[in-house]
Formats: sequence, C-alpha cells, structure tokens
Amino acid sequence: MSTYRVNFYTGAYRDRQQQANEDRAVCFVAHHLNAADDPSADYTLCVVGLNAGPISRAWAQSYTAEVAGAFGVRQWGDDGVCVGGMNGRGNSQIYYTRMPAILPEPLFCSNPEHAAIIRSETGRQRLAEILAASIRQFFPDGGLVAFSIGHRGKPNSNDAGALIFAQPGEPVMYEADATEDILRRAANLLKIFPEVQANGTN
Ligand SMILES: [Zn+2]
Repeated sequence: MSTYRVNFYTGAYRDRQQQANEDRAVCFVAHHLNAADDPSADYTLCVVGLNAGPISRAWAQSYTAEVAGAFGVRQWGDDGVCVGGMNGRGNSQIYYTRMPAILPEPLFCSNPEHAAIIRSETGRQRLAEILAASIRQFFPDGGLVAFSIGHRGKPNSNDAGALIFAQPGEPVMYEADATEDILRRAANLLKIFPEVQANGTN
C-alpha cells in the first residue's frame, strides 16, 4: 500500500502553491463549499485551473460524480468540471501549481438540505472519504498531498468564507469551519506518517 504524507498550506494563495511546488507535492486540493443567493442552487462542482491538464480534469470529474452519487445531487454542466472557475473565481488558487490540482465545491452552504449534510459529522466524513478515495485512485504511488483550506490562513485576514445555512437554534458555522474539518478527516484517512507543517503560520 502506498504511503501518503499530508501538508496543510497557509499564507497567501499563491505562496501556498509555490511552497507545494518546492515540496514536490503530488497533488493539490484547495477546498471550498459553494454559496448562492438562490437557496435552491443544488449542484456539485469542481474547479480546475485554466491551464489544467488531463489528470486534473479527470480527477475533478470523478470526484463530482462520486459526490453526486453519494448525496443525490447533480453535477454542474456536463460533468461537474468548471475550467478556470465561475467568472474566473478560484482559478488563481490552483493555477500556479506544477502538479494536478482541484478546487472542490461539493455542496452549497446556502442550500438548507446541503447545509444539513455539511453540518453533520457523517456528511463531512463521507465528503472526506470521497476526497481521500479520489486521491488514492488518481495518485496511487503515494507521496506528499497538499491541502489548502479555502479562505482560512491568509495573512491578516479573518475571512472564513460563506455562512452556512442554520435552522433555528443551530450554531453559527462558516464554510472554512466545515472544509477544515473535511480536510483533516481526509488527511487522517490518507496518512501513515504524522502531519508535517511546511510553512504553517497558524
Ligand atoms: Zn469559498
């Protein structure tokens, strides 16, 4: 069985990618969740860079297909793959990597049904399992996996992303709270060796 290490990269988005390049990571994941004004928006989507190669594209497609199957949601567009991001959003968070990279937006913070999944431990664990399985499938030789928590860990920033829909009485929870938990769960599923902080600022 192949061995994986996982680093969480913080700092400016471009610096995260540069450090992952220097560390020779085999793949890069910049995890987000989607949000829209319309609470009925309900598709699963994965952004790849404008310069994405075939592995990134196939990885993104496979990932969204698995999410769609697991949660009964539809893939955005033909195959869930959004090249260059919606109006360019997200592109710069993965564009500068030298390894395959995806920016998953598996569910909507703004959709009440999706928010219920995101808020549940079993939902986040399932998302982590899908992500970890996709990494094992597309990078079967193991190596260093680079994780970037969307919004969180930027210099001089308290950004935590979109507010996750709350039923009355549910605690305040932001996008980055959920994606950090999902990535930590995925890291636990992947790694054999202890996590190494490459350039951690927090
Ligand atoms: Zn986001």
